[in-house]
Amino acid sequence: CNLVVISACVVVSEKKISLVALFYMKYAGEAHSLKVEKVLFQGKSDYQNVMVFQSSTYGKVLVLDGVIQLTERDECAYQEMITHLPLCSIPNPKKVLVIGGGDGGVLREVSRHSSVEQIDICEIDKMVIDVSKQYFPDVAVGYDDPRVKLHIGDGVAFLKAVPEGTYDAIIVDSSDPIGPAQELFEKPFFESVAKALRPGGVVCTQAESIWLHMHIIEDIVANCRQIFKGSVNYAWTTVPTYPRHILITFPSPCDKLLLSYLIVSPHPLYFLCGPLVDFKHPVNPIDKDESCCKSKRPLKFYNSEIHSAAFCLPSFAKKVIESK
Ligand code: SAM
Repeated sequence: CNLVVISACVVVSEKKISLVALFYMKYAGEAHSLKVEKVLFQGKSDYQNVMVFQSSTYGKVLVLDGVIQLTERDECAYQEMITHLPLCSIPNPKKVLVIGGGDGGVLREVSRHSSVEQIDICEIDKMVIDVSKQYFPDVAVGYDDPRVKLHIGDGVAFLKAVPEGTYDAIIVDSSDPIGPAQELFEKPFFESVAKALRPGGVVCTQAESIWLHMHIIEDIVANCRQIFKGSVNYAWTTVPTYPRHILITFPSPCDKLLLSYLIVSPHPLYFLCGPLVDFKHPVNPIDKDESCCKSKRPLKFYNSEIHSAAFCLPSFAKKVIESK
């Protein structure tokens, strides 16, 4: 994965000293830098380094182990698409599980769906939750929804204990496949996900970028094709500060409906699959339905048109993924 290393350098210009956080991509020759106005929080939990800084152009930024997790400016493109592409593709989702997602953004988006009765979230790191509530209240507002039940723990162990066929949708909003999230990208985890889904349910998870991690994507596709059945469609979105992310949504094994991958990156790609699911035309549109959204915040990125339009793919990615 593209673990980034933060090295801050002090830039002296026009007699003003400003701290610039340079995020060096693990891939030689790539770098993404954000100007740091002020470091707001720095801490180390049992699982990772946690940092929040005020950037000059993307608002506040959450960084875990040197990898950008969200910025105030572009988080909408990630949280809205990872949530609504799957949830708008099935009628009346009722029980939803979020693995990871400690910032609360996916919870905020799930809460827009009035059919949902139960939202479980299993996040391993309480520090991420506490920091998000303090510094990203518009994102962490998702925790205020009375349907949300928070479980602090490892998503792998949580899913092993979930009774068969419990959830209509599982959204795995995890960090990169290193550290605590590593097992969330492996076959046994996907097998426990399959068991926890009801027939016709969907899963959506994060797993890197077509530009940087095709090898990871190919492994995930091969694993998921063994566990989850179904043909595959694909979709796009864009998140300027995410140099990686693939999100995967696939059906319960007893239901050859839905295999979908969602990639969120500057050149993101979403895969959705299902002979009986017409992904290009959401069956459960929510563009207008903001009534139940706790934050009363209008959708900033997702709409039914972008849902449908998101399925046009670059040939190189289509060729590789469809060959698996
Ligand atoms: N949107 C971000 C992205 O795409 O990189 C992810 C946001 S969220 C902050 C990622 C969360 O996954 C973190 O809070 C991290 O603590 C959590 N996480 C990592 N491994 C986990 C595990 N095994 N079980 C539960 N949560 C986990």
